[in-house]
Amino acid sequence: MMKKTLFLMIGQSVILLFFLASCSTMDSETSDVKETSDVSEITEKENKSDEKLVEDSTEDGEEQVEEITIEEESEEIPLYTLNNTNWTVEPIDKEAEGKLVLLTIDDAPDKFSLEMAKTLKDNKVKAIFFVNGHFIQSEEKKKLLKEIYDLGFPIGNHTMSHSNLKNLSEKDQYKEIIELNHQIEAITGEKPKFFRAPFGSNTDYSKKLVAEQGMLLMNWSYGYDWEEDYMNKDALADIMVNTPLLTNGSNLLMHDREWTNKALPKIIEGLKSKGYTIIDPTKIKIS
Ligand SMILES: [Zn+2]
Repeated sequence: MMKKTLFLMIGQSVILLFFLASCSTMDSETSDVKETSDVSEITEKENKSDEKLVEDSTEDGEEQVEEITIEEESEEIPLYTLNNTNWTVEPIDKEAEGKLVLLTIDDAPDKFSLEMAKTLKDNKVKAIFFVNGHFIQSEEKKKLLKEIYDLGFPIGNHTMSHSNLKNLSEKDQYKEIIELNHQIEAITGEKPKFFRAPFGSNTDYSKKLVAEQGMLLMNWSYGYDWEEDYMNKDALADIMVNTPLLTNGSNLLMHDREWTNKALPKIIEGLKSKGYTIIDPTKIKIS
């Protein structure tokens, strides 16, 4: 819980009433807005706040000092951190109980991302969709990406052309990452907060650039959907849930693939039945 105190110097209590009325109007207009800007964050916080007034008992018309204490709900405060040695998620509150997993879907939006997003939404869980720039060049695919974003899923940067960054000059790495950030922001209105390099292959330069851009870089704990043996729904759903690599905080890598799309409901169900909470990635501390 955080506290914010505002001091207002006003001449008439009428002005105070007007101020509060303006706030509540702003709140109702912006309560649906996603965390896209400082303004919406502030108004969201205000929307969930308890406001207390302490007034000086002076006569009408005299100057008054008004103190408004705003107690914010914890919704805006990150709940998890990413361990950058093994890419697992960890609760910030070390006392927190329960097992966590993070779902991520790479190479989006190719053919199945929208259906995967709807499956996740139907099951009331979230995932990060890591987007490749070459998949969002048509108007149709731009609309598709917006639809996924509007369903409530964070969009990560997976580079423009899915090249191995280790084979590129710094100038080309810059283009791969920054150009995609611009394109995604132009479509969704929000700059990506997460970055994952193709093949998990980073350079010192890409790590530095991603950090400078205020993005969180991640690889993953495990994934199987690119292996021949798991290119079918049942085998994939089984290994994703029953692999010995599944531990508290695992960061699960999946892709926009036909078999992964089909396995997704069983993967979600399997993780839940093993007592895992699939975390909301927007609650991960970015920097
Ligand atoms: Zn990829």
